[in-house]
Amino acid sequence: MVTYRRGGHVRNGDDAVERGCEHCDWHCVAESYPELIERYQAHLRAEHPKAWLRT
Ligand SMILES: [Zn+2]
Repeated sequence: MVTYRRGGHVRNGDDAVERGCEHCDWHCVAESYPELIERYQAHLRAEHPKAWLRT
């Protein structure tokens, strides 16, 4: 099981992950992949509900 810290500081970016939205200029940097997915899903749900429903 992958564990990751919550609320910690990013360690100089070496384990940071990033992703842009396919549907707009939204862009996100997170310190772990699970957190990134969570944020991207939240963005889709808020801004592109039709796209979110298809995933
Ligand atoms: Zn978007």
